[in-house]
Amino acid sequence: MIAVTLQRNKCIGCNYCFEIAPDMFRMSTKDGKSILVNGEDKRGFATVRVHDEYEDKANQCKEVCPVKIIKVHQCKVKK
Ligand code: SF4
Repeated sequence: MIAVTLQRNKCIGCNYCFEIAPDMFRMSTKDGKSILVNGEDKRGFATVRVHDEYEDKANQCKEVCPVKIIKVHQCKVKK
């Protein structure tokens, strides 16, 4: 599993993440900013855990985001 994090308040609404991964991101019709689908919000940072198969797309979004507010981490495996 990987964790994807979005610092939503800094989003400039460029749409790039949504164009790459529409199953992971949506654009708000209210404020034009990106929304992390099923993201859990904590102090302005939305986080969602997704399967490894989404890692490439998540990393593409991270790379393309002009304000660098998308982060991708490997989830720690509980032993
Ligand atoms: S790529 Fe970054 S700035 Fe652009 S909509 Fe997505 S989160 Fe917002």
